[in-house]
Amino acid sequence: MGNYIFNRSNNLDFGMSNGGLTVFLTVLGLSGTLSANTKKEKELILWLMEHDIEVRGLGNGGFDVEDIPWDVINFEIEKEFLVNVIQGAKQKIGWDTLDYVPNEELIMSYLGSFMEMIRILAPENIKKDEYKEWINLGIRDKRFKNPEGYPKCEKHGILLYWNGCIACNDK
Ligand SMILES: [Zn+2]
Repeated sequence: MGNYIFNRSNNLDFGMSNGGLTVFLTVLGLSGTLSANTKKEKELILWLMEHDIEVRGLGNGGFDVEDIPWDVINFEIEKEFLVNVIQGAKQKIGWDTLDYVPNEELIMSYLGSFMEMIRILAPENIKKDEYKEWINLGIRDKRFKNPEGYPKCEKHGILLYWNGCIACNDK
């Protein structure tokens, strides 16, 4: 069983254990929350946090980078934002808030593969309606709505998605 991150158009993927995915998303959340300034940047981080196996189910936390709710007009800027978030994660931003020490070798390899997938993602391969559909899901069903005012976890400083903090959920 594994959680796979894909870049379908470029035939790339890598798999992670359930624990591996949680750490991968957690370190992105730590770096991403610090880097996110605009509403859309915060939303991109929340979209990642929602892949928490706590709500997706074991082995179901993976995603395709083409399915990230990119903005067609600001695609290159958003890509650069995510690349910076990954770079921050590689610099271990916020790792001192965790109760454990991530397996550095594994996490760096996941982050490197993810960065490559984001970098080579071409605008023609993103889905134009993904953002609208994602936001509409939260409007149709309030359970999946992004928390008002973008609150952060007091302990980890990570943006809270509709089911809380990905690091606190990891028990
Ligand atoms: Zn937390």
